Order: sequence, then structure tokens, then C-alpha cells
Amino acid sequence: MKKMMLINPHPPGRHGEESLTVIVQMPLNLAYIAALTPGDWEFDVIDENIELALDENGNLTFDDVDLVCMTSVTYQSPRTYKIAKACKDRSMPVILGGVHATTHYEEVSQYVDTIVTGEAEKVWPKVISDFENNRLQKKYDGGLPNLSILENVYPDRELMRRKYDYKFSSIITTKGCPNFCDFCSVPIYQGRKFRERPFEHVLDEMEATDYKGLMLAEDNFYGHGNRSNERARNLFKGMVDRGIEKDWFGFTALNISQDPVVLEYMAKSGGFGMLIGIESTNEEVLKKMGKSVNLKLGTDSYHDCVDKIHQHGLAVWGSVVFGADGDGKDSFKRMTDFVLDNNIDVMSFGIDCPFPKTQLYKRLDDEKRIFRKNYPDDWHFFDSGHLVHRLVDMTLLEFIEGMQYVYDNLYAGDNLRKRLRNSLKTMGSANNGKRNSMFAFRVGCDWDNVFKQALDNLKALNDSGDYTKDFYK
Ligand code: SF4
Repeated sequence: MKKMMLINPHPPGRHGEESLTVIVQMPLNLAYIAALTPGDWEFDVIDENIELALDENGNLTFDDVDLVCMTSVTYQSPRTYKIAKACKDRSMPVILGGVHATTHYEEVSQYVDTIVTGEAEKVWPKVISDFENNRLQKKYDGGLPNLSILENVYPDRELMRRKYDYKFSSIITTKGCPNFCDFCSVPIYQGRKFRERPFEHVLDEMEATDYKGLMLAEDNFYGHGNRSNERARNLFKGMVDRGIEKDWFGFTALNISQDPVVLEYMAKSGGFGMLIGIESTNEEVLKKMGKSVNLKLGTDSYHDCVDKIHQHGLAVWGSVVFGADGDGKDSFKRMTDFVLDNNIDVMSFGIDCPFPKTQLYKRLDDEKRIFRKNYPDDWHFFDSGHLVHRLVDMTLLEFIEGMQYVYDNLYAGDNLRKRLRNSLKTMGSANNGKRNSMFAFRVGCDWDNVFKQALDNLKALNDSGDYTKDFYK
């Protein structure tokens, strides 16, 4: 029997969303690879969030296998290349898929034997067949298939659970996004067509897994029009009608607040709440980002939107961006006040990051403002926990002071407990409001580490002097 090692690379010591223990979840794409592999294969998996694939000397920590398969987003790529090199040194072939392989084919092809761009579902059986017949090609393109392709293929969650006992799994219900926010890479690697999985297929998969904790894997489960909104209502109503009991969480946009029916079914079907891209309270910044969904509602309506969601006992996890053009040193206090005044149950953030191939990258690069240009090594900075471009509306020190202000007023000391008490006051009497308030509190406790690391990263940047060096000479 042939043996395949599935690896989720991770830069040791990094804290990001993967550090949130409440929702720590398996690498679903690798679970799909195991499920899609035809024939007689034995699998093992290394998730570097939990166990390293390389020891301190750069040697692999596992025995020889016939094939190594990895997945990688941009910030993981330097680590991925190190593992790939160690595999090559031991003559093990490596296949790489994921976002970075899709956007950086030329670079990635220097490090691995084969690249799968796009999504693997359609093309993976051919990749394996070619491998078994010694005719593996350099590149396969899986494209962006219709999601009905997932009807009869469920990810091999048991393989993952046997190894690491994950408490949460994710489940795909949609992919792609028709919007084009300047910082976001979703439309680039998942396409601008909003692809929806038939809700009955999702319900069937929910019934087939005994995972009670589920994350909806996509960036927007509610969608972008009446038809997709109706589909979301049917999905959560279907959970209630079929008696599917899950503790679930998902990402969506603020317009969901205008749909009391979907909120009611979300609450009844076990939803904790939702992560919503608030991004900014400054409409000029939102315009620059192209965040049309928030602009349509208007920042004046944010308070009312959050209130409507809380009435259903659902927690609001607001995701915001710091360091975007148009944000000056007053933006930190403004955002802190917004979070406190509106009882946002969790506030997480990303430092505005020009992910490669996005419109934002192109603009900042044209303006010669990106100071992390030594690729591939510098890709590890492109994770929203580092600043990689020069700011125009404040100095680096003002940025650091502003971030510290947010931390001191929302996270440090007794602030998380105070915010828990507010969450309980706001939604404690509704449906699962108490449970959802506790969920938000625990996410906040974990995000505390992510926040502290981002502050350390900024201070290290200031000390390094890199911020003012000219990398375009
Ligand atoms: S941020 Fe959200 S709405 Fe904007 S492009 Fe990305 S997925 Fe779409």
C-alpha cells in the first residue's frame, strides 16, 4: 500500500486566527485530498499548528512516504519551501496546492515537483493516476468547479480527528465573491462568481458527520442577492426541520442584520453568531477599499444593525482593518468607542495587508510603499499581523501608539470581563445568548495573544529601521 503524508505548514511561534482554541479546526482541504484519493493509499497528517514537520536542524520529523502533499497560503510559503526542500533531500516527491500555488506558479514551481492550481476536487483523481503511472506533470489546474461536485464527496474528517482530536471542523456551503474589495484575495483565487452549494447537499453532509462544532468555511454564507439569501434561510430552516443539532459559526456581511427570518433560524439552529467585516467606521476609508456592502447600509446604521443581531441572541464578531489609507491617528479611539458603544462582542483586526495580486498590492507597489520585497522569505510578513507598507496618514510611532490604545481599552486588565458582562446584558436573555456571550469571551481571551504579538511585531519593525529603507532603488 502506498503512503501519503498530508502537511499543513505553519511558521513556528506565529499567533493568528489558528490560535483561537474555541474554534481550532482541522485543515479541511487536506481532509478532502484524503477523501478524493482513489485506490489503495494509507494516509498520515501533520498539522504544524500542533506538531512540527521539521526539527530544529531542519530535518523531517517523519519517515519516508511515497508522496507528500501540502497546502499553503502566502504567509505559510517560506515554511512550505523549507519542508519541500527537506523532502527533496530525501527523494520524496511533493505536490502543493492552495492559494499561493495558484497565484505564484513560477515561484512555487522552483520548490516542488507538482502544483495544483485552483480547486482540487475535479482534477485530483487524474493527479493520483498520473503519479501511479510515473507520468506526473508539473502543473494541474483544477479550475473553479460548480459546488454540486461535492454532493457525494465528504472530507475524511475521521482521519484528522484520529490524529489530533480536533473539536471543530468546517463545512463548505459557498465559494467566491462578486465584490472586489481592494485588500481581499477571495475573488482572485475563488473567482467573482458566487458559487452556492445546494443547501440540501450541505444538510446531508451535516447529518453524515457527528462533528457537533462546525465552522462554515466561506467568507460569506448569506450571499449577495435575494436568491442566495433565500438559500441561507432554507439551509438554517432545514437544520431546524431535520433536527440537526450543531454548534456552528460563520462569516458574513452586515446586510444579514436586515433579515429577521434568517437570524431567527440561525439562532434556532445552534449558531453562536457571526464574524462580520466592519472594516472601518470611516466612509472615506470604506470607499477606498471598495467595501460596497457596508457603504450601501451606511456607517450611521451600524448601531441599528448590531442591535438587530443581538436581539436574536447572536454574538457579533466585528473584524476591522487598521492602517488603511485615510485612517489617521484619531481612528483608533474612534474604533474603540464604536466597539464599546455598540457592544461588539469580539473585535479582531487585521493590519491592512496588500496580499499579492490584489488591487491594493498593485496600488501600493506603484506608489513604491511596500518595504517587504525580499520574496519568498518576506512572504511570512503578509499575514495581517505585520505592517508591510508605509503609512500616509500617520507615522509608524502614531500607529503603534494607536494600536496600544485599542489594546489597553478593549483587551488589557479587566476589559474582556467588562465586555462579557455587556454581552450578557445585551443578549443574555435571548435564545442561546448566555452561551454565545461566553463563546465571544473565550474568542477574545485567545485573541489577546494575537493582539500582543501584532504589537510586538510593530515594535520590532520600528527598532529594525526597515520601515524607512527604500527597497525600490
Ligand atoms: S472582503 Fe468580503 S465582500 Fe469584500 S471581496 Fe472579500 S469576501 Fe468579498
